[in-house]
Amino acid sequence: MPTDFGATRAMFYIPEGVVYLDGNSLGPMPLAAAARVARTVTDEWGGLLIRGWNEAGWMDLPARVGDRIGRLIGAPAGTVVTGDTLSIKVYQALASAAALRPDRRVILSDTGNFPSDLYMADGLCRTLGDGWRLVTVAPEDVADAIDASVAVLMLTEVDYRTGRLHDMAALTARAHTAGALTVWDLAHSAGALPVDVTAAGADFAVGCTYKYLNSGPGGPAFIHVAPRLAEAARPALSGWLGHEAPFAFDLDYRPGRGIERMRVGTPPILQLAALDAAMDVWEGVSMADVRARSIALSQAFIAGVEAACPALTLASPRDPAARGSQVSFRHPEGYAIMQALIARGVIGDFRAPDILRFGFTPLYIGEAEVARAVAVLAEVMATGAWDRPDYRRRAKVT
Ligand SMILES: *Cc1c(COP(=O)(O)O)cnc(C)c1O
Repeated sequence: MPTDFGATRAMFYIPEGVVYLDGNSLGPMPLAAAARVARTVTDEWGGLLIRGWNEAGWMDLPARVGDRIGRLIGAPAGTVVTGDTLSIKVYQALASAAALRPDRRVILSDTGNFPSDLYMADGLCRTLGDGWRLVTVAPEDVADAIDASVAVLMLTEVDYRTGRLHDMAALTARAHTAGALTVWDLAHSAGALPVDVTAAGADFAVGCTYKYLNSGPGGPAFIHVAPRLAEAARPALSGWLGHEAPFAFDLDYRPGRGIERMRVGTPPILQLAALDAAMDVWEGVSMADVRARSIALSQAFIAGVEAACPALTLASPRDPAARGSQVSFRHPEGYAIMQALIARGVIGDFRAPDILRFGFTPLYIGEAEVARAVAVLAEVMATGAWDRPDYRRRAKVT
């Protein structure tokens, strides 16, 4: 059955008059998430108190919700767990992967990666010392830079600025041929396009849930470890809830079984409740349908903007097969232009130095929203309405 995008749209709260093209950064609120969080607060926290850990299944929630995410990324049941933030999960995956390649010293990544991933890798190298280093090359040079010195190839599949899509299967195969392991960051992939970590042979995969998975600000991240590595991967952040028997309170750390060992400390139950409810939206949704519609919407947006706004230059790959689910344009005054759009109800975001970024999320965006966004952008550019000092004043979050 084809995906009913009218039905998925009705599951979200989108404020009146807003065209929301920033679901790639913070997904909108699923109505069920608000209700679920309210119930979790009142009935479970309020009513059950500490009994909630057993009676409301709080302790199993990180893995249960992980399995639901697993279905969107091709990960088998029991190989995904949620918790912490993505930066932490990047560190965990990298540290485990690095320890599995003790004879090597290089973490390879690209200059298009999200800075936090690179910062975490750099921090890990400093902690490990002993010659460990992070090497970054241009995204198009990654394949050729994979050699026998590389312990771990760490890449984000979809570039957060341009939307450029790496070939996960091909690069993983190349890394494996060279004897390296892979850590894939799916922050802009999970819920955005079809992903199959199993088919691609990915060793570790991580991602966040507050973008395309709509779990709300600060929603927990997820981590996947390939089953073949699950019992060999040693957790670097050896917290009590990743222990084999947390409530034995042993003084010695023994890693838990499989993916359970990637848990660290107390799970964020309110955020997990929101995420669990948000995952309901994906029931009956085909990622192939999402992809087809995302491409149709983004192609329409590119065509409309290029026809009406000659001052904007496309920053994303023109070929939709080489792109994730976002489209970016460059303009030296991109920040002010985006503020003018936001003031008119068309919400995207800005990434330094000059990128206007728009996310296309078929669960709640259709042709009418794309047409309105193009029309408003065309008007803002044609009239110069963006050229105001208050639109140039940078907020803390862009
Ligand atoms: C959004 C994003 C992050 C954010 O990490 P947090 O720890 O959740 O703040 C990290 N890496 C990538 C690639 C991202 O897109």
